[in-house]
Amino acid sequence: MIDKKFLTADFRELPYWWDKAPLTPESVNELPASADVAVVGSGFSGLMAALTLARAGKSVVVIDSENCGYGASRRNAGFLGRTLKRSHEWLCKEKGESYGDAVYAELNSALHLVEDIVDSEGITCYRNTCGRFIGANSIAHYRLLEKELARNRAVLGSDFEMIPRSEQHREIQTDVYFGGAVIPDLGSIHPGLYHDGLVKRAREAGVVFISQTKVKSIGKSGEFRQLETTRGSIKARDVVVGTNGYSAELMPWLQRRVIPFTGYMIATEELPAGKVEELLPNRRTYLETVMNINFIRPAPDANRILFGGMTGRNVPGPMDLAGDLRKLLLTILPGLGDDLALSHAWSGKCGGTFDFMPHIGVQDGIHYAVGYNFAGVPMGTYFGVKMAQKILGMKEGYSVFETQAFPTMPLYRGNPWFVPLTMKMFDVKDRWISFAG
Ligand SMILES: Cc1cc2nc3c(=O)[nH]c(=O)nc-3n(C[C@H](O)[C@H](O)[C@H](O)COP(=O)(O)OP(=O)(O)OC[C@H]3O[C@@H](n4cnc5c(N)ncnc54)[C@H](O)[C@@H]3O)c2cc1C
Repeated sequence: MIDKKFLTADFRELPYWWDKAPLTPESVNELPASADVAVVGSGFSGLMAALTLARAGKSVVVIDSENCGYGASRRNAGFLGRTLKRSHEWLCKEKGESYGDAVYAELNSALHLVEDIVDSEGITCYRNTCGRFIGANSIAHYRLLEKELARNRAVLGSDFEMIPRSEQHREIQTDVYFGGAVIPDLGSIHPGLYHDGLVKRAREAGVVFISQTKVKSIGKSGEFRQLETTRGSIKARDVVVGTNGYSAELMPWLQRRVIPFTGYMIATEELPAGKVEELLPNRRTYLETVMNINFIRPAPDANRILFGGMTGRNVPGPMDLAGDLRKLLLTILPGLGDDLALSHAWSGKCGGTFDFMPHIGVQDGIHYAVGYNFAGVPMGTYFGVKMAQKILGMKEGYSVFETQAFPTMPLYRGNPWFVPLTMKMFDVKDRWISFAG
C-alpha cells in the first residue's frame, strides 16, 4: 500500500497511456451472424491480423470481452526491441545455427515492421529511435553483457557501446548499476496511441469491432467455425485467437501452454522542467541485465518518468505494489527526491511460455499467436500479420516460430501459482552469477 501523500490529487489507478488513448465502447454492438474471419482479442495480435485480412478483402469481426484495447497492448511500457529471453548463442547451440539465425532475423523484422507501419500509416505515437541502455546489475553481469553483445555484433551485425561505471552518469544518474551498454537502434512508442491508430486504420478498412463480448467456445459447423459468445453466436470460415496473457478456458490446449503473469507500472507526477533530462540525459529506454528486470523510460509527451518492476507478483491490484515500486524507483533514481508523488499505477497481463519463446501456429484449425514474454509490441504486430498471411494462403505466412513444439508441463491447466516462486529463483540465479563471477 502507498501513503496517500505520495499520490497526486488527480491520481488514477489506470494506465498512463489511457489519458491520451482512452478505451471507448463500440457503437456497433450487434454481433453479425457471419464473417470470413472472427478474431478473438483486440490487442496488437488480433488487430494486425484483422487489418491485414480486411485490406485483402475479407470481412472481419474482432470480438473482445472488454472494451477494445483493454489488454496488455495499451498497458505496456512501449519499448521497441529485439527482446528474447533466449540468446542467439544459446539458440544456436541448443537448436542449431540456422534456427538461431532465423529467430533473430524475425525479431529484427518485427522491430522494423512496427517502425514501417507507424511511418507508412502516419500514426502519431511518438515513435522514436531513442536507443536503449541496459544497466549491469553486477560486475559479472557487465562482463557477460559485453561478451554477448560483442558476439552479436560479430555474428548478427548489431551495434552497441559499452558504458563503464565511471561514465554511467552520462546515460543515467544512478550508482546502482555497474556500467552498462547502449543499443542505439532500439526505440520506443506511446503504445496507447499506436494501438488507437491501428484501430482507426482497421475501422477504415471495414473491420467490425464488438466489445464487451466474451467468446465462450469455438465449435465446428461443417466447413465453418461457430463461436458462442455472451452476445449470441457467429459463424466464420477462419478464427484467429490473440488473447495472450488473458487466455483462459476458451482454448484449453492454449491454456495449458500459456503462463499468464502480471506486470506492474507507475508514472510520476509532472516533474520540474529539465529534471527528466538531468536524470536520463539521452531520454532512452532503460532496463537491466537480470531476468527480473526493472524498467524505466521518460514519458514521451510530458515531464514524467514511467517505471515498471516486481513482475509476476501475485497481489490483488497495482495499488498493493505502488508504494514498493515508488521506493524501488527512488533507489535507482534518488534525484527524484523523497517527496516524489505518483499520478498513475496500473498492471497488465503478459503471456509467458515454458520454453521462453513466442509461439504461432494452427491448432484444431484455429490460428493463434501468443507467449511474447514481455516483447509483444513488435512480436504481436508481426505475428498478427503472419496469421493473416497464413489465412490468405501466402507463403510469407511462414514463421520459424511455428516450427518448434509448443511445450506444456504435466498437470498444468493455466493456474500460474508458481510464477512468484520462479521469479525468486531467477533472483537467486542472478545473485549467484554476480557472486561466482
Ligand atoms: C506492464 C507491461 C509492460 C510491457 N512492456 C512491454 C514493452 O515495453 N515492449 C513490448 O514489446 N512488450 C511489452 N509488454 C508485453 C506486450 O504488451 C504484450 O505482449 C502484447 O501487448 C500482447 O498483445 P496481444 O494482442 O497478444 O494481447 P493483449 O493486448 O493482451 O490482448 C488480449 C485481449 O484478448 C481479450 N480476450 C481474452 N479472452 C477473450 C475471450 N474469451 N473473448 C473475447 N476477448 C478475449 C482480452 O480482453 C484482451 O483485450 C508489456 C506488458 C505489460 C503487462
